[in-house]
Amino acid sequence: MAKKQPTIMDKLVSLTKRRGFIFQSSEIYGGINSCYDYGPLGVELKKNIKELWWKSMVYERADVEGIDASILMHPRVWEASGHVEGFTDPLVDCKNCKMRWRADQIDLEKGCPNCGGELTEPRMFNLMFKTFMGPVEDDAHVVYLRPETAQGIYVNFHNVRESMRKKVPFGIAQIGKAFRNEITPGNFIFRTREFEQMEMQYFVKPGTDEEWFEYWKEERFKWYDRLGINKDKLRFHQHGPDELAHYAKAAFDIEYEFPFGWSEIEGIHNRTDFDLSRHQEYSGKDLRYYDQEADEKYIPYVVETSTGVDRLMLTTLVDAYTEEEDRVVLRFKPYLAPIKAAVLPLVKRDGMPEIARKIEADLRKRFKVFYDEGGSIGRRYRRQDEIGTPYCITVDSQTLEDGTVTIRERDSMEQIRIDKSRVLEYISERVMP
Ligand code: ATP
Repeated sequence: MAKKQPTIMDKLVSLTKRRGFIFQSSEIYGGINSCYDYGPLGVELKKNIKELWWKSMVYERADVEGIDASILMHPRVWEASGHVEGFTDPLVDCKNCKMRWRADQIDLEKGCPNCGGELTEPRMFNLMFKTFMGPVEDDAHVVYLRPETAQGIYVNFHNVRESMRKKVPFGIAQIGKAFRNEITPGNFIFRTREFEQMEMQYFVKPGTDEEWFEYWKEERFKWYDRLGINKDKLRFHQHGPDELAHYAKAAFDIEYEFPFGWSEIEGIHNRTDFDLSRHQEYSGKDLRYYDQEADEKYIPYVVETSTGVDRLMLTTLVDAYTEEEDRVVLRFKPYLAPIKAAVLPLVKRDGMPEIARKIEADLRKRFKVFYDEGGSIGRRYRRQDEIGTPYCITVDSQTLEDGTVTIRERDSMEQIRIDKSRVLEYISERVMP
């Protein structure tokens, strides 16, 4: 029988493990389903994605502020938000093979997708992780791990507005962990039970929400160009009435064409005044905004943009992965690359390592670099290509004569020579977002 060819996903899982991007969590114990750890290169890629998002959402805009709210919140928050009652997915079990499915993701008529067996009636399953605060494990001490970061923003709407003297319209952005007890996690880091979200809630005057919704839809779609994603692999998907979340008036997903099909990477939602109104009702606090110019009070409407860091890591990895005749290259945008430059002495003698070490030390002041003196120069270049390092700096015999080094660019493999004193400036100019 012919051996099954590895898929792109198989290759990525293997590359990201071998090269220190992504490990299975608790691997020495056999792993735990759908939990992953980010290794030395993974944590850099993740940080770079978050920084790009933060830069474009918070630093480049005068109308958005950042926060970092607590994961554990007052349990009433989740009653008000509708999550205790409504954050559920329909679950079915196969009576034959015992596999578990999300009823809205399979064709129930055809029975179990695994064995064709008979399925149980769908029952609603709440996706929130529950735990207890303090030593007593009873109903009065239940707290939830937040299933979205958005609620931490709503409850801080007036704190941020007052402390930063903001006027509507303005937004609040946050990056942080969220937890969902997904029925069917999978596709590597695409759907996990613990993940990190990057969410921004934009508060607007009621009646202007549709305009702002269009604005954010376009802004967010454009942002993927900065992330370096091929735009032919991106599209919008509009939620139909049966797909809309309990809080939403309108919703669009941005989808990416993964090897396993088109799937959501970001949601843009018009959440109306649902969340703030409910928090006003449940907390008994007046959460209206006083609009001085119009001399009126109202509860702002909210346009939300919500994406997942882990999911964008998978997107950038899939999109960057390129197989060429004799090499594999991760063609990340330079600022996303975990390592910005590798410094390579051509041989381990004649003073070349000493010069290379000096260049390395100089570059380290600004970014993550890698020093490598082992193996043929060709193999060393390939090793860097495979992890997406945009520049390789080689110290060779000409360096000893005239002080110049070669700089090799990852994608074109072109090499230029520059004076070693200019390396820091040259790389810096090219790896900043
Ligand atoms: P689905 O219907 O696929 O379960 P959703 O529509 O509930 O997803 P949202 O609540 O809109 O998802 O989540 C916003 C973003 O958070 C998603 O676009 C995704 O990037 C990220 N995200 C949501 N759930 C997960 C998860 N289980 N693992 C990783 N990322 C996630």
